[in-house]
Amino acid sequence: MDRAVGAVLGSAAGDALGAPYEFGPAGQLGARGEEMRGGGGWDPGEATDDTQMAVLVGASLLECGGLELPDVFDRFRRWAAGDPKDIGLQTEIVLTSGDPWDLAAALHFQVNARAAGNGSLMRASTSAVYFAPAGRDATMDAARRIAALTHGDRAAWEGTAVLHELVRVALDGGDPLGALPATLEQVHLDHRERYARVLAPDWHPDLATEFNGAVWPCLGSAVWALRTTTGFAQAVRAAVDLGGDTDTVAAVTGTLAGARYGAAAVPEAWTTPLHVPVPGYGDHVVDAAALRELARRLATAGAASAAGEAWTPGGGSGTVRLPWWSPGG
Ligand SMILES: [Mg+2]
Repeated sequence: MDRAVGAVLGSAAGDALGAPYEFGPAGQLGARGEEMRGGGGWDPGEATDDTQMAVLVGASLLECGGLELPDVFDRFRRWAAGDPKDIGLQTEIVLTSGDPWDLAAALHFQVNARAAGNGSLMRASTSAVYFAPAGRDATMDAARRIAALTHGDRAAWEGTAVLHELVRVALDGGDPLGALPATLEQVHLDHRERYARVLAPDWHPDLATEFNGAVWPCLGSAVWALRTTTGFAQAVRAAVDLGGDTDTVAAVTGTLAGARYGAAAVPEAWTTPLHVPVPGYGDHVVDAAALRELARRLATAGAASAAGEAWTPGGGSGTVRLPWWSPGG
């Protein structure tokens, strides 16, 4: 449970830590010498679209009692219409296209041919926690389906599936880095070699052939940060100091490192100011305590679902109203 909370809280903390440096050069966090002080349009501790979307996925899984893809898509669309400060280009086009949930991403990919952004990776902490108890195949399959809501390129699905599986291994108490070879064997053959390259022990973010807003170097950089450090904060700092898409690379690193080291390893100085506005859903702001509660509920509900049991918070039936969640009209 501590590691499940670590994945969700760690991802949000990484997102907020990296937000002020998005699209900047390498080394900006270390050079500044202070953390969680905001900047670049972000308040201290304010989480961005990465965490906002992760919260929406988590709320949908709990309120629907499982994966209802049209519901997740509807929540994304409502959020996108709420004018978030930050939204991925590709995600925005897909969510505002007016096309149905099961066609929008595929149509975008057909027209643009490029749709392998890191936007499905960045929001995967909550679904990774929920589906971990269902086992390797089920969690990788769920990752692909949720990714496909906004990303038509299978590369994005496979990267998100790898992240889900590494989180599952870590929550089980295993070593996610040791699980890489077996995980790669589950990656679609068309994409396996490219992921094997960026996840190899001798890969370094400097070897990336694309900007780290793409799915491959983003996942590779997160795994690199985990591999080359010995603690949660150190891993996430290393991710931010790579520069580029700092909030997302740090959010993905925080997902992995949080699952590996647990919630207690996430610095209190980072979680105290942490807050997640959810555009389109009223003025309610999700804080660190609510993120912890969300993670605990996801872990419990996911385990119940994997065991074939119905899970209803508070034992009630019908529409689920989470205490921390105030959709506001
Ligand atoms: Mg972001």
